[in-house]
Amino acid sequence: MYDVIIIGGGPAGLNAAMLLGRSRRKVVVLDSGKPRNRWAIKMNGFLSSDGMNPREFIERGRAELEKYGVELVSVVVKTATYTKGEFVVNDENGKVYRSRKLLLATGLKDNLPELEGVEEMYGKSIHHCPYCDGWESRDKAIAVYGPERKGIGQALAMKNWSDDVTLYTDGTDSLRREDMELLNRNGVKVQKEKIVRLEGEEGMLQHIVLSSGEKKLQQAMFFSLGTLQQSDLGEQLGCEFTSKGVIKTKKLQHSNIPGLFVAGDAARDMQMVIVAAAEGAKAGVAINMELQEEDRK
Ligand SMILES: Cc1cc2nc3c(=O)[nH]c(=O)nc-3n(C[C@H](O)[C@H](O)[C@H](O)COP(=O)(O)OP(=O)(O)OC[C@H]3O[C@@H](n4cnc5c(N)ncnc54)[C@H](O)[C@@H]3O)c2cc1C
Repeated sequence: MYDVIIIGGGPAGLNAAMLLGRSRRKVVVLDSGKPRNRWAIKMNGFLSSDGMNPREFIERGRAELEKYGVELVSVVVKTATYTKGEFVVNDENGKVYRSRKLLLATGLKDNLPELEGVEEMYGKSIHHCPYCDGWESRDKAIAVYGPERKGIGQALAMKNWSDDVTLYTDGTDSLRREDMELLNRNGVKVQKEKIVRLEGEEGMLQHIVLSSGEKKLQQAMFFSLGTLQQSDLGEQLGCEFTSKGVIKTKKLQHSNIPGLFVAGDAARDMQMVIVAAAEGAKAGVAINMELQEEDRK
């Protein structure tokens, strides 16, 4: 019986494990090794680690946990249930883990544009978050991918980083007259033709090829097509979700299920490494405080 099972060993799960390990709790982290930013070569915007390789960040975090006796298991969790104050978790190999508290830190995955060439360029010259990658794309020819009306907000926002911004609606024609006026007024170009493929070298976008055969010079692309939970464990456990598909949590990462906490991208709030790590720290402290209260004589 563990004090705490943590599912997910990204920044949120590892930082929670750090606080709980330092609080002398018996903790296991079960992790399938697919952090959301595994596509990226740099992790930006984390004070003191700005620009670090995301893989190195995770490896350093895991190494730091060794001295606190935290168990790290590389495995996919298949099911999790809660009955009468006990969490029961089953992994893909049929192993069963039990705990008094459970932290879900399983993260999100991104809906990527369905374009030939995206997977090689995602995290290098194609991005979803301007706060993570806008600086590296400053003053470049930036494309924003947004079929129908999905790219308007992001196209306007990207003017913060470059004067050269083009919104690609990929063969859709849903922009209203007032949308076009707003985009024109703010110097955003609009390209409605269908995209055939992306061309580039070593992950760096060079051209967007349109159905007419025309090649548009573009050096970076941003998109915002929503996210999905990386696991269905929140649903299995009966968590409440927001309309955006993230799990509702209170100030210290409590969910609506007693003893179940959620931290990082899977929970509501800003989706950045430093925020995920901070939520992990908050959850770690809150979990330890609940355990202290339950054990007080
Ligand atoms: C391309 C890209 C670039 C980014 N760049 C930046 C950046 O520069 N700066 C920044 O601050 N943020 C960046 N982000 C956002 C950042 O990746 C997330 O905010 C952060 O990873 C969230 O941490 P997390 O711990 O909540 O989730 P994650 O890091 O996604 O970790 C979740 C972990 O849970 C595991 N898991 C999921 N389901 C299961 C299961 N069933 N069983 C076991 N394990 C499971 C996964 O394998 C994974 O290891 C970027 C994201 C992307 C996609």
